[in-house]
Amino acid sequence: MRQVIIIGSGPAGYTAAIYAARASLSPLLIASSVEAGGELMKTTEVENFPGFPDGIMGPDLMMKMQEQAEKFGTEVVLDDVVSLDLSGDVKKVTLGNGDIHEALTVIYATGSAYRKLGISDETRLSGYGVSWCATCDGFFFRQKTVAVVGGGDSAMEEATFLTKFADKVYVIHRSDKLRASKIMQDRALANPKIEFVFNKVVERIYGEALVTGIGLRDTVDASESTIDLSGLFVAIGNDPRVHLVHGQLELTDDGTIAVDGRSSRTSLPGVFAAGDVLDVTYRQAITAAGSGTVAALDVEHYLASLPRHVLDTASV
Ligand SMILES: Cc1cc2nc3c(=O)[nH]c(=O)nc-3n(C[C@H](O)[C@H](O)[C@H](O)COP(=O)(O)OP(=O)(O)OC[C@H]3O[C@@H](n4cnc5c(N)ncnc54)[C@H](O)[C@@H]3O)c2cc1C
Repeated sequence: MRQVIIIGSGPAGYTAAIYAARASLSPLLIASSVEAGGELMKTTEVENFPGFPDGIMGPDLMMKMQEQAEKFGTEVVLDDVVSLDLSGDVKKVTLGNGDIHEALTVIYATGSAYRKLGISDETRLSGYGVSWCATCDGFFFRQKTVAVVGGGDSAMEEATFLTKFADKVYVIHRSDKLRASKIMQDRALANPKIEFVFNKVVERIYGEALVTGIGLRDTVDASESTIDLSGLFVAIGNDPRVHLVHGQLELTDDGTIAVDGRSSRTSLPGVFAAGDVLDVTYRQAITAAGSGTVAALDVEHYLASLPRHVLDTASV
């Protein structure tokens, strides 16, 4: 039995692993079979992660994190967790290959998934003009034309933020009623760089190496139109990956894992959460990494509070 199993190989999971490994907890990290490395594997240049003044490619950053975690003794398994039993003192983690691992603690760091438009070329051009994060990528669109898809608070916020860089920001929404709060709407509507395009859905993304434009369809009369632009920001929602813990851990109204204050402690003793899976607000690599640190330190404190004979059951 392990002292700690970490589920997830994004910045939260690997940072938790680095701390746990350096604390001699010999963590086992379940990284996923096809999505190891997390969301940053889907992007190109990361320019806002401290320590890399010239920027670093997302996949390179994640390889370095894995290397650092393994260097201190983390065992990384490229498989998916398919079920979890978190109720007792001993947590059971079942993998896709059928293996069952046991541990005194679990750090749940499965991240969250941005909702996609589900149209062709969206994935191919991700990082080449298609983005889900204005904070991350807005800087690349200075003096360019971009569009934000969505009608909620995050779409308004992304659009308003993008006007710091872009010359022109279209907000494309499928109806003529925004879901965003009045204050966010008013701020965006008053911004002279933002133009609202109502009753339209994005059906095509044009561009070979980089995005050059989008094709729209009117939701009322089905007419088609195009807009030339360099960036398309998709802001239609985000789903924390919590399906494995439904009915086991308390969730917030936003669907993220509920934790106790600034800690990583979930509603079950010995189960800790880190990264975007508990974050509705910040969702950045560095905040996820910080959250992984918190989880590893909380695990250490929790293990230190267990009676000696329980701790001794963990052989690795
Ligand atoms: C296109 C894009 C560009 C971005 N650019 C930037 C940027 O420039 N700067 C920045 O700071 N942030 C950026 N972000 C945001 C950043 O990627 C996230 O905030 C960060 O990755 C969250 O880290 P995390 O560890 O919480 O989750 P994730 O990175 O999502 O990692 C979660 C991990 O858990 C794994 N997992 C999930 N379920 C299971 C399971 N059942 N079994 C095993 N493993 C599982 C996943 O496969 C994944 O490896 C970007 C995001 C995207 C999508």
